[in-house]
Amino acid sequence: MTKTPITVAYGDGIGPEIMKATLNILEAAGAQLDIEEIKIGEEVYKSGITTGMEPNAWDSLRRTKVFLKAPITTPQGGGYKSLNVTTRKALGLYANVRPSRSYYPFVETKHPKMDVVIIRENEEDLYAGIEHRQTNQVYQCLKLISRPGTEKIVRYAFEYARSQGRNKVTCFVKDNIMKLTDGLFTKVFNEIGEEYPDIEKEHWIVDIGAAKLADSPELFDVIVMPNLYGDILSDVSAQISGSVGIAGSANIGDQCAMFEAIHGSAPRRAGQNLANPSGLLQGAILMLQHIGQPEIAEKVHNAWLKTLEDGIHTYDIYKEGTSKEKVGTKEFAEAVIERLGQLPETLAPISYEKPLPVSIKVKELPKEEKELVGVDVFLDWEKGAPHDLGAELEQFNVSGLKLHVITNRGVKVFPGGFPETFCTDHWRCRFLDENGEAIAPSQVAELYTTLVNAGFNCIKTENLYNFNGEAGFSAVHG
Ligand code: NAD
Repeated sequence: MTKTPITVAYGDGIGPEIMKATLNILEAAGAQLDIEEIKIGEEVYKSGITTGMEPNAWDSLRRTKVFLKAPITTPQGGGYKSLNVTTRKALGLYANVRPSRSYYPFVETKHPKMDVVIIRENEEDLYAGIEHRQTNQVYQCLKLISRPGTEKIVRYAFEYARSQGRNKVTCFVKDNIMKLTDGLFTKVFNEIGEEYPDIEKEHWIVDIGAAKLADSPELFDVIVMPNLYGDILSDVSAQISGSVGIAGSANIGDQCAMFEAIHGSAPRRAGQNLANPSGLLQGAILMLQHIGQPEIAEKVHNAWLKTLEDGIHTYDIYKEGTSKEKVGTKEFAEAVIERLGQLPETLAPISYEKPLPVSIKVKELPKEEKELVGVDVFLDWEKGAPHDLGAELEQFNVSGLKLHVITNRGVKVFPGGFPETFCTDHWRCRFLDENGEAIAPSQVAELYTTLVNAGFNCIKTENLYNFNGEAGFSAVHG
């Protein structure tokens, strides 16, 4: 077999120990790897490189297209960018695949039957990193959900389910509140789901869905979600399966992929031969599946299961009565190596025969007719009560644009409104054409200039569009 080039980073904290243990196991199992090492993490950050990765590291990643990464420590203080977020976005790693299985009775868990895979969208949502402080009191973070991004992750989840022999895909969103962004996620989930009649489909509002997942994870199979919910719930899922220390993840893109443990660099455990290398090993097993070495993936996974069954445990999963021997990182890896070629007796082996899906095609969208129908002007204003602001703004009629409504933190405060509503210094003032007609962009500019000239502190404007006659903006309630 020819060797597959991969890029490896040893990371910080417990990173170097668990990477060494993992690579020792892979080598003993006969994995055919041609390893290029790169430097990432704390030292690189502190040398002044804000991405935490040396520039030539990108060359290696672009060459090998496969990255096995140990956790890193992000230094305290501002100015450092998340290396994970940068890598995912720069390499287009849109799908984060995080399996969480129970290894009961060998690893303690309240959920002996759980076997959940969370497919987390990896590039969009609140992780676009577009944040602003707009007034003395108010900060904003933009949540961006795109149609192609959603189509890719949803289709990925269905393709994953189909290829890996799973039966159900559940979607977690908050579309009862975020009707446009999360609403799009649901819409795409329903549309694409129709193309997979062999797979059961289910939709949960994320709050109750999360509660169900924490309480009865055995009810779920594959769950697809936008970035933030997926980030949080995949940690919950790993933890309730036994420990965050035993879960790995794959970050998949059309061209590149990154594999890692889901935990961090656990600096307090570093250098003491204590850490559990299983999370990174699970990431490495997914990598072997991805690069077309499924027999090695299965061999390593089975030996690892047998090690757990034999009660050879690192401190984090060691339990008096269940465990037989408490071992360090190095000894755990040696125990796995000794068991290469053996099968577990109680725990079910897993087949890695079918590769992880990679390239997902997105359909070309028909262009919808986009019509400008109004504008939300955001003001920094603290001179009085909502009706004072309303009375002032109602005086303006800039070529037919009239004040329609004012909200504060999304609550309607003018016209009408309750005196009990707490107001900040951040006001959204919606202007629409007085006859309900479409408007020209120049009217928005004219309104903005008029308001600024009248002494208003305009923070920003947000255009209001209809698409094929349907409002592309949320309605104001109340
Ligand atoms: P952490 O995951 O490093 O540790 C959380 C807890 O889990 C600690 O008690 C730790 O001892 C334990 N733990 C984690 N991995 C373990 C393992 N393999 N074996 C045994 N015990 C393990 O989270 P944290 O303490 O919040 O973060 C530490 C550092 O890691 C921070 O600098 C953070 O930014 C970074 N981090 C990096 C990544 C990554 O590189 N992918 C992910 C998360 C956090």
